[in-house]
Amino acid sequence: MSQDTTISAREINHQDECVGCSAHLSDPCHPLCPFETGEFGPAVILRAANHRVRNHPAGVGYDIAGAIFAAAIDLVGNDQAQALADESRQALADYLVGQWGPQAEAIHNQVVYRHGLFAQLAEIAVSLYGAADQYDGNDPDPSDC
Ligand SMILES: [Zn+2]
Repeated sequence: MSQDTTISAREINHQDECVGCSAHLSDPCHPLCPFETGEFGPAVILRAANHRVRNHPAGVGYDIAGAIFAAAIDLVGNDQAQALADESRQALADYLVGQWGPQAEAIHNQVVYRHGLFAQLAEIAVSLYGAADQYDGNDPDPSDC
């Protein structure tokens, strides 16, 4: 792992868009795209996690936290992955509690796990992209999913 000098290769989602800046596959990345700057935050990790979720089945449902951690490993390397994965999972938990309402606050540390147990892949995609948009301060864009 030489993440100090090498920026991970751009990742493209199921809509042929960069998970960092939403540039189309056929266009170059935005200059401030994480894949250009090497500065990866929770939003890009959450979007990168989306296409890893199907590779992280749990006994029941999916291991979303595992997919987030795998995305962090791939994008920033082992040294920084844990902290960034924690921050990303927290952003998703905040988003889910916002969706589920005040009573979910009591189970804040379980919402990501429970979401993985009960949600379909399409719903997980909505939440990962929604959490990324919320973290970035953008309105959720349903067409992303
Ligand atoms: Zn990009």
